[in-house]
Amino acid sequence: MPRPEGGGRPKTTSVFELDIRWLGRNGFLERGAVRRLCQTVNCRVIAEAQIEAKPAALRIRIGERCDWVHLERTEQPLGGERRWFRRDECGRRAAVLYGFPLACRKCRGLAYPSQRETERDRGLRRARKARARVGGSGNLVEPFPPRPKGMHARTYDRLWAAFIQAERRAVEMTAGALLNSSLMATGSAICEK
Ligand SMILES: [Zn+2]
Repeated sequence: MPRPEGGGRPKTTSVFELDIRWLGRNGFLERGAVRRLCQTVNCRVIAEAQIEAKPAALRIRIGERCDWVHLERTEQPLGGERRWFRRDECGRRAAVLYGFPLACRKCRGLAYPSQRETERDRGLRRARKARARVGGSGNLVEPFPPRPKGMHARTYDRLWAAFIQAERRAVEMTAGALLNSSLMATGSAICEK
């Protein structure tokens, strides 16, 4: 029986998501910047946000709704600094915020995408195990080995079916993770003020 991923809780990737590192790399945090962020999940636009960089804060507007988040910096032990979001609701620093109004992962109680990773790893492990039972290597790219002498055909068929299922699951998980991370920004500045 396939288990619901992440214990059936909503995925972090299925909601609006702001990553401060990504915003920093794409110029969203430069003072005075007003930029548009178009976020897609599985090629579907889930939100179009307008993001304004104010002193030590971001103003985010989606449609008619508006939200604010504080920006903070911490010194890195080896020099340099790291940027963070901070919400008043919980006072936690966070590199990623979810949903709208925005909230840190703890406040939203979302499952980490790494639980998808776990699911994928489990699939790969099962596929390798089934291969090992019939004397195959752990390399999943090689063809599934023929039935060893002395192994019942039924046992072999069962292992083969388990291998195919586990492999398919792992591939789906990988593809899903790639699609869900397709975050893009139009990045064109909008004149305001
Ligand atoms: Zn929080």
